[in-house]
Amino acid sequence: VLVITDQAFVTLATSDGYGQGALVLGSSLRGSQTTRILVILISPMVSQRVRTALACVFDEIIVVDVMDSRDSAHLALLGRPELGVTFTKLHSWCLIKYTKCVFMDADTLVLNNIDNLFEREELSAAPDPGWPDCFNSGVFVFRPSMDTYHRLLDFAVDYGSFDGGDQGLLNSFFSDWATKDIHKHLPFLYNLSSVAVYNYLAAFKRFGSQAKVIHFLGPVKPWHYTFIPDTHLVLTDTGKPKEPHIVDLLQLWWDVYFSSVMPLFTNPEEGCILP
Ligand code: UDP
Ligand code: MN
Repeated sequence: VLVITDQAFVTLATSDGYGQGALVLGSSLRGSQTTRILVILISPMVSQRVRTALACVFDEIIVVDVMDSRDSAHLALLGRPELGVTFTKLHSWCLIKYTKCVFMDADTLVLNNIDNLFEREELSAAPDPGWPDCFNSGVFVFRPSMDTYHRLLDFAVDYGSFDGGDQGLLNSFFSDWATKDIHKHLPFLYNLSSVAVYNYLAAFKRFGSQAKVIHFLGPVKPWHYTFIPDTHLVLTDTGKPKEPHIVDLLQLWWDVYFSSVMPLFTNPEEGCILP
């Protein structure tokens, strides 16, 4: 495949749990035959075991230690300690060897090639299902720039984040997203939140099969469930049955996990064998 080396998909994992998500996301991007570079930002908390697996899937692993850095992010974080993970996400704007990137949360899953996202401009994103005048920050197109990075940090220090996370901050910073340019509105199918099953079941049934990216937003992530491969049964801690459509989505995530990610841990001596 001819790789376009100045454009990248970027994700983030500050723990081994999110690292599992990132491995599934990265494998799903590989499965989509992307022609772009895959980059992951990790924190020093991610274990060597998970890093070794990540190295099989991602082209570039960048350890971001905001606490240890001597740059303005560290100082800014002293004033806003609750924004720790958010500041790590903002580090994406420092990847200036790429001219354009698509950030994707580690709890997303790519079902079909989405390389056409690189035709979009900063900041392009899909509406948030909870408040559609805000974009959801789980999938967005951006242009790395140290100037933007520092303006984002300053903004975070001055105004904080209205929801305590990166989504509130980015929506305040890119505040004309809702009204200025419809081209910066990605179709919801590029960031289909699993909550849409509850919010608008009829639309999910009508359009869900066209989804390009599933986003497992919310506190319970796919890797928190127990999954029985033989029966395809998803066990929850409460023992309550899940909504069948949600189980179908979890199934898609676990399919990638079993086929592409688990082998990286069970046969590490065989090195990286990717489809
Ligand atoms: N993240 C992380 N460690 C954390 C929390 C979040 O690495 O402890 C990263 C990860 O990429 C994750 C993203 O930040 O997908 C946004 O968080 P999350 O997906 O949990 O938020 P939600 O989409 O549920 O609002
Ligand atoms: Mn998410």
